[in-house]
Amino acid sequence: MSDRRRWVANAVRRIEADFNRSADTHLIRLDLDRHPGITLYLKDESSHPTGSLKHRLARSLFLYALCNEWIGPDTCVIEASSGSTAVSEAYFAKMLGLRFIAVVPAATAQPKLDAIRFHGGEIHMVDDPGTVYAVAQRLAHETGGHYLDQFTYAERATDWRGNNNIAESIFAQMAEEEYPVPAWIVCGAGTGGTSATIGRYIRYQRHPSRLCVADPEQSIFHRHHADRSQVTLRSSHMSRIEGIGRARVEPSFLPGVIDRMIAVSDADSIGAMRALSDRLGRRVGGSTGTNIWACLHLAEDMERAGEHGSIVTLLCDAGDRYGCTYYDEDWIAAQGINWSPGADRVAHFLGRPS
Ligand SMILES: *Cc1c(COP(=O)(O)O)cnc(C)c1O
Repeated sequence: MSDRRRWVANAVRRIEADFNRSADTHLIRLDLDRHPGITLYLKDESSHPTGSLKHRLARSLFLYALCNEWIGPDTCVIEASSGSTAVSEAYFAKMLGLRFIAVVPAATAQPKLDAIRFHGGEIHMVDDPGTVYAVAQRLAHETGGHYLDQFTYAERATDWRGNNNIAESIFAQMAEEEYPVPAWIVCGAGTGGTSATIGRYIRYQRHPSRLCVADPEQSIFHRHHADRSQVTLRSSHMSRIEGIGRARVEPSFLPGVIDRMIAVSDADSIGAMRALSDRLGRRVGGSTGTNIWACLHLAEDMERAGEHGSIVTLLCDAGDRYGCTYYDEDWIAAQGINWSPGADRVAHFLGRPS
């Protein structure tokens, strides 16, 4: 074996060994007192070593790049990211002894920047969020490095047929429940990678489950789903829900495998986030609130149709990264967000902890 092949083999082994030492993420069950025929489940992706569902994506992107011989012992690794992906990638870069640079919009939450630096990553800030892709490309060129490009590769770096991807894990954990095959699986879309994996998996496994994507109102994704000719957002007014909703249709977003999209206002996402945090006794992130708001609508539709069954959604990350935004009263007031009507409605939907 050449030195280079030996290095790649050892890098793959380190990532596999890390996986081997890790447990699967929990599937939390929530019984809904007011909806006796419907059970809600939360796939808790905050329990990954780097705190979000992006841990799965970062692992897949590194393995894909290593096995394509895109990364070697001296490669500087670069990513365009609003935070969570870069946190997880910095973790894997450090594991492999590689330099890592995150290209992030200037508005990125401070705790995320701290987490990237904690894992040894460097930060390259840009004022215009629309330029992150081009700047990452340029840095890769200048350093002779590799741009991981989550928005392009998320859908193909993940093994959609199985290999313990998030969908396979959900179905295995549901096996002993009353309704083991979910009526709905609900997630958000940032890269679109998670929805692509789940959508393909349920078709490949021939499950009747439907996939719903919960999308911020100010995102292009639900517009594109309704009308494929819409590919970029004209307004610069973006959603404040980190991790989901984009101004351009990302290459990894596959509308064909999504059965329904629900557009959610930031106020309702934050209200749902608050209500779920109260119900669980711990804080969750904003995109989890977006998911829960969509679950409420699906549950009401199921009830109207006399349908019983299970709904599975994702707890994408915890609230600790949002102490100075969604959980800060001054920040909320400055944004002019009135989340309490949404929170009341979701609190009623979720009922009391049993
Ligand atoms: C990235 C992200 C999502 C969306 O996942 P994708 O697979 O990129 O579509 C949802 N929530 C959070 C917090 C994220 O960071």
